[in-house]
Amino acid sequence: MILIAYTYLFEYLREMLFVKEIKKKYITQRKNTFRDIEYNSYKNLKLIIFDVDDTLTGFFQKFDENTKKIIKKLSQKYQVVILTNSTKGREEEIKKEFDKTNIFVKGMADKPMKHSFQFILEKFDISPENTMMVGDNPFADMWGAYRVNIRHRILIEPLSSVDKNIKETFFLFRILRGFERKLFIKK
Ligand SMILES: [Mg+2]
Repeated sequence: MILIAYTYLFEYLREMLFVKEIKKKYITQRKNTFRDIEYNSYKNLKLIIFDVDDTLTGFFQKFDENTKKIIKKLSQKYQVVILTNSTKGREEEIKKEFDKTNIFVKGMADKPMKHSFQFILEKFDISPENTMMVGDNPFADMWGAYRVNIRHRILIEPLSSVDKNIKETFFLFRILRGFERKLFIKK
């Protein structure tokens, strides 16, 4: 796992060295939270992929009712996918929250590797041109989506840093996150 992470970090750094513009390119838009995205304004949007932890919920937290309502409503108009690098257990938990909906949940996604993104695009037979990725992680979510040409790559602020009702992430993750955002987001 660590080896994979380093391989991808290396690939990222290499791209950054040779294509300085990449930092500018791989995030198409920034918003405060997933609630601030005007989904209706994206023409031909068919598929929305959401990260979970610190995007829709706090880290390993349950979904609040309002969030569930928003996501379910979106799923009436778009194909909605919840894609997380988290465990199988977390995947099952989320599936239970969204049973009797057409929302597709996938855990152990290995973002920013391409295979889970590709799996979803193929499963629903939707072009990356008609797809949006929403997440708080510039490396896993944004760069991952960029690598498979997902058109709209929307970076949001970590939910626990903007929503007082959300429990803060474990401090080690917070430190890592700060470092990641420094490294991967162009000022
Ligand atoms: Mg996240």
